[in-house]
Order: sequence, then C-alpha cells, then structure tokens
Amino acid sequence: MPGFTVAIVGRPNVGKSTLFNRLLEQRKAIVDDVSGVTRDRQYGIADWNGKTFNVIDTGGFVSRSEDVFEREIRKQVKIAMEEANVLIFMCDVTTGITDLDADVADLLRRSSKPVYLAVNKVDNHERQLEATEFYSLGFENIHFLSSMTGSGTGELLDDIAALIPEEEQATNENDGIPKIAIIGQPNVGKSSLLNALIGEERNIVSDIAGTTRDTIHTRYRLFQKDFMLIDTAGIRRKAKVHEDLEFYSVIRAIKALDEADVCLLILDAEKGIAGQDLSIFSLAARKGKGLVIFVNKWDLVDKQTNTARDYEKALRERIAPFTDVPIIFGSVIEKQRIFKAVETALEVYDNRQRKVQTSVLNDIMLKAIEAHRPPVVRGTAIKIKYVTQLPTHTPAFAFFANLPDDIKTPYKNYLENKLRENFNFQGVPIRIFFRKK
Ligand code: GDP
Ligand code: GDP
Repeated sequence: MPGFTVAIVGRPNVGKSTLFNRLLEQRKAIVDDVSGVTRDRQYGIADWNGKTFNVIDTGGFVSRSEDVFEREIRKQVKIAMEEANVLIFMCDVTTGITDLDADVADLLRRSSKPVYLAVNKVDNHERQLEATEFYSLGFENIHFLSSMTGSGTGELLDDIAALIPEEEQATNENDGIPKIAIIGQPNVGKSSLLNALIGEERNIVSDIAGTTRDTIHTRYRLFQKDFMLIDTAGIRRKAKVHEDLEFYSVIRAIKALDEADVCLLILDAEKGIAGQDLSIFSLAARKGKGLVIFVNKWDLVDKQTNTARDYEKALRERIAPFTDVPIIFGSVIEKQRIFKAVETALEVYDNRQRKVQTSVLNDIMLKAIEAHRPPVVRGTAIKIKYVTQLPTHTPAFAFFANLPDDIKTPYKNYLENKLRENFNFQGVPIRIFFRKK
C-alpha cells in the first residue's frame, strides 16, 4: 500500500514553508526516535490524529526569478495533481487574489483529487473579513488560517487526516517478498543497474510484473531468494516532459520508499553525497526503512591505496549519526559488485526482521547497563530493570525504568550502540523507548 501524500502548492511567499514547518513540528513533538535524522525543508512526515502522511512543500523547488516561476509553478501544480493524494492550495490574504492564484485555481479545479484552499496570514479579525473574497475561487473546502500563529491549522489537518483510510496506515510490507527501492538522483546509474540485473535473464521470475502508476516493480529470483526491485528511473524516462524536474524525481522517490523495505541509495562516486541524497537518507531512516549505499561509477575514480577507506570515512561523517549502514563501491558499467549490492540489501532486509529473544536481550543489555549506568537525576539513581523488543515491523525496543522521562539522548545512544554491537542491525534504524516500570 503506498503512503498518503499531501502537497502544498501556491505561489512564492504565501507561507507554504511556514505551514510545512509547522506540520513537521507537530510530528517532532510526538515522535522523534529515529537516529540519523536531519530536518528537511521540502518534504517530511507529519502525524495527526494517529494518521501518518507525507507532506511535500513545493515551494522549495521554485525558482525565484520572475520570468520562469510562473511556468515552474504550473508544472509543479500539474505534477502534484498527478502524484499527491490531496492538495493544499495556499493563498495570501494580504495580497488578495492575484492573476497567478487565479491561474493555479483554474488548474486545480480540474483535479480529481481533493483540493483544500488555505487562505493564509489570516492573523486577526479584520483579515478574516477580507478573506471572504477567496470564496470566489470556487473551492468547496476552504480554510482560513495563520501558519505563523497556528490558528486554523489544526482544523485543516483534521479534515485531511479524516481522508486517510485506516488501511493506508498499514503497508503491505509483510507479504513476505523483500522489496528494494533503487533510489538516487538523475544520472547516478539507476537504469543501468536495473538493466544490468535484468540482463541476467534467468533470474527474472516475471518481466516488469506490476507496472503501477507510480513505480515499476520487477520480481527476481537470485541467491535462492525472491525479491522485488522498485524502480523509479524507468518511469521518469517515459515521462520525458518531467525529466528536468527535481520535484518529480523526489516525489517518486518518496513513494518508492513507502512501498519498500530497503532503500538502495545510489550515489555517483565523482559527485559524492549531496543535500538531496541526505534528505532521502534521513527520510528513509525516519520511515524505518533499511538502507544500503551503493557508490557507483567507482571506475571513474583515480584510486590510491586509501581512496576507498577515506571516501567511506567522509561519507559516514555526512550520514552521521546513523552510520551503521553498509557502503559498497562498485561500477555498473564494469559489472563490479552489483550483485553484492542486492545481496547486501537482502541481508539488511533480514536484519530488519530480526527479533531478539527477550532472555538473550536482557542478559546482554542489563550487563551493558550495569557496566555503564545512567547518570543520577536529582539525587535519585535511574534503574533500568527490563528490556523487550516490541512486535513492530521495524526494530523497536522498550526499556522499563523507574524514571523513564529522565533518560537523556547520550544514554539512549549508548544503548543503541550496545544493541548494534551485540546483534546485527546493520542498515536498520532502531527505535528506543523508555517506559515506566
Ligand atoms: P513560501 O514561499 O510560500 O514558502 O512562503 P514562506 O513560508 O517562506 O513565507 C513567506 C513570508 O510570509 C515569510 O516572511 C513568513 O514569515 C510570512 N508568513 C507566513 N505565514 C504567515 C502568517 O500566517 N501570517 C503572517 N503575517 N505572515 C506569514
Ligand atoms: P539514472 O538516471 O540514474 O537511471 O542513470 P543512468 O543509468 O541513465 O546512467 C547515467 C549515465 O551514467 C549513463 O551514461 C551511464 O552509461 C553512466 N553510468 C552508469 N553507471 C556507470 C558506471 O558504473 N561507470 C560509468 N563510468 N558510467 C556509468
């Protein structure tokens, strides 16, 4: 089941990023338990009334130069209409309805997806009165809000959360076949990798089995294992019109992530890891997906004795604090380590399924806690008495303690490191919770 995606569209300066940040903060306040996250302005995960959804702020992609932005916005709105489940169309009460707003409204009225008109910057009563002019745009769902103060944003979220079906919450992850999403920026070699793998024809169980609207799934049999590759590259090829647009590949990558168990993040060795890659990396971690990094085009790199070691070290610094991730250097063109990449992704899949027996877990972790106790708080010793792995899709552990709220991040990191030292969770984000005993 794909995730649920909400896109915020509208012209620059109406307050899209402000709303976006507010939505993510809500989430932050509720859950922030995954290691290795960096905030990203452009897209993230929001949580409201127990529903989780992707939020995309299209504003981050807009060129600010006057002559191109109108065209860009129209493109983005069209893509958002195709790709998102719900659209928030944001306008600004202080400027009233502009020509561009009217243009965008024309596009959006043709949308088969629900559109919520959000009239922003309605900070006070007078503005509430001025805002009524926006009824003339003809949208049924209209909200007046102030992203800055947060007034009205809760009601908008209530409406949107109500549209998310309960079953969209669950993913079909557990039909038993590992799903690996091949993700990376344009030109890193995703299609070449797919083709190289597909070249081994005997391994394909069925050709391009399910071509959904969003991604291409190809089912394989390799290393005595069935698995599915989720490709975002092929579709982009077909949709040439969108090819130049970063936004398009990002929105596709997010969807592929939702469907996948493991993300195989492809980098171009010569270019290294960029901000966009880091965003995908942290989003995958946040979604509890397994991760493997494949540094492609290694054939182009001038190699000395320590090149790979130094490269790997620098890369790990960039992805910190979630560094327990396999990094593989290879070349699709020279067919170097491409099967290794897939094999490693399958290992990470297994790590993500790993369930540690409670007795073994307590045995090891209570010793680790004994060896290095949590700091004393207000004169009271913090005692952790028991730990158990929760029955979740992705590894999560509950530590039961007398003062669960007083255990700080450094100690949590210590526990995570100990878990990783003793059990193989390579490539897998771990969640740790403290509960009252
Ligand atoms: P974007 O370009 O659509 O992403 O717009 P931004 O979120 O960057 O906001 C543009 C400007 O509007 C910033 O100076 C914000 O502080 C301001 N702004 C955003 N929301 C509100 C609001 O609810 N009320 C007021 N008065 N200003 C706001
Ligand atoms: P995609 O946009 O990520 O699907 O990237 P492509 O698979 O289309 O590859 C982009 C370009 O990189 C093509 O010209 C490929 O031939 C080239 N390429 C892919 N893998 C390698 C590699 O391992 N080494 C070198 N030198 N070039 C590669």
